[in-house]
Amino acid sequence: MFNFVIFGPPGSGKGTQSKNIIAKYNLVHLSTGDLLRTEQNTGSELGKQISALIDDGNFVPDEMIQKIFKAFLFENKNSDGFILDGFPRNTKQAAWLDNLLEEMNSEVKFMLALEVDDDELKRRILDRGKISGRPDDQNESIVETRITVYNKQTIPVKEYYENQNKFHSVKGVGKPDEVFANICGIIDKLK
Ligand code: ADP
Repeated sequence: MFNFVIFGPPGSGKGTQSKNIIAKYNLVHLSTGDLLRTEQNTGSELGKQISALIDDGNFVPDEMIQKIFKAFLFENKNSDGFILDGFPRNTKQAAWLDNLLEEMNSEVKFMLALEVDDDELKRRILDRGKISGRPDDQNESIVETRITVYNKQTIPVKEYYENQNKFHSVKGVGKPDEVFANICGIIDKLK
């Protein structure tokens, strides 16, 4: 199994680039944001609990996301590998993931970060909100909360992979095709 983490703040283009990557490298896209929104849309009790947290820009508890993550991973365990998008989002999740993959005789091969500055992120997310209908994309203060939570809780995950010599980054601004070409350059080198 070939797994890597795509990393970057909300609005950095992880979802867009992941779609290109899975097509080219035959990987499964494991997006925790997508999994949570799927559960929300079922209208289940769990879905309602999720909405109460993520619509305001907050994380869901680790145990909750880990359970959902693991179920999806196991359902697709015969695939060639995963692109992990939105997970791990804090260092506890990163350590949990290392253990889980080790039990499966696998690992995170590397982390690939998309670098985009905060002003550009805010612009992109609010633009996306006009089309996507995501409540967390439509309100400036919720977007700011997400960027703040990212800077506080998620940035340390970068250091976690730096310490394992697994951290790589590309510029996330410019034409999406150019960003994709730079991403492929890194994947081809490390795969
Ligand atoms: P974005 O990258 O645009 O912030 P995502 O689609 O990845 O959005 O995630 C949407 C929301 O789902 C997050 O703001 C967060 O509330 C929740 N979420 C996603 N992944 C995780 C995770 N690993 N741990 C906790 N909460 C998560």
